[in-house]
Amino acid sequence: MPPASFDERTGAEVREGLPPPLSDLSRLCIHTETTSPWKLPEAASAYERAGVPAITVWRESVAGHGPAEARRILEDHGLEIVSYVRGGFFAAASSAARRAAVAENVRVIEEAATLGAPLVVLVCGAVPGQPLETSRAQIRQGLEHIVPYAEAAGVRLGIEALHPVYADSRSAINTLRQANDLAETLDTPGLGVVVDVYHLWWDPDLRKEIARSGRNNRLFAFHICDWKTPTTHLLLDRGLMGEGCIPLRRIRGWMEEAGFEGHYEVEIFSEIYWREDQREFLEKIKRAYLAHT
Ligand code: ZN
Repeated sequence: MPPASFDERTGAEVREGLPPPLSDLSRLCIHTETTSPWKLPEAASAYERAGVPAITVWRESVAGHGPAEARRILEDHGLEIVSYVRGGFFAAASSAARRAAVAENVRVIEEAATLGAPLVVLVCGAVPGQPLETSRAQIRQGLEHIVPYAEAAGVRLGIEALHPVYADSRSAINTLRQANDLAETLDTPGLGVVVDVYHLWWDPDLRKEIARSGRNNRLFAFHICDWKTPTTHLLLDRGLMGEGCIPLRRIRGWMEEAGFEGHYEVEIFSEIYWREDQREFLEKIKRAYLAHT
């Protein structure tokens, strides 16, 4: 075994090719759906008490408050808003449905601006049985329609590529390469990509495509959790960092190598953890974040 080396700042052991562990919570962000049983005011207050500095807001958690009141709640707790989730679902069988999707995205952008969220995350959509190429063309058209609204509102748009298991109905954009291609085709500085390790950890081109996004200043967000083996549900069985097979620290290293300076957003959708006491779950998140990100 080669001799261990140690990070000068944190004193932590450095394994070859990996960045040192995180030493504090300063870049931690939590997606409200991670603690789904909590309403927005409860989540905001618990995050503040737990020393979580930033929050990503699920659209459903704003319902019942409205974006202006939600903004006051988050400001009262000193939370930085990282993103608003989600827009997209541009692909649809009828032109009326595609027009409705564009109108809905314009509303999402307006809500994000009122909320004070600098970024809207896009899950782009797919139609079961429709060729993926057709869905991709519809996604591109939808984006072309909403980009001017986002620019006017000062809100950025992040294309999130989804794991191919969701290519039937949730997104025809399944690799970071496809997301980069799309963002580059539209070529506007407010359109970039979102890297979610749950969706992209398996991709042999991931490091290369993260570097490409970084070079083009399109690396807008980084979502973290883990892929459990075996996983029992492809939507609602995400694991805590370190609980599964994702090489999270290595991917974080690639993000930093590419110049990413944003937050590390914990996005754990889990029926198992939602049944737990959410305060205890939040403490587990903090421990897993420091130990494995
Ligand atoms: Zn995500």
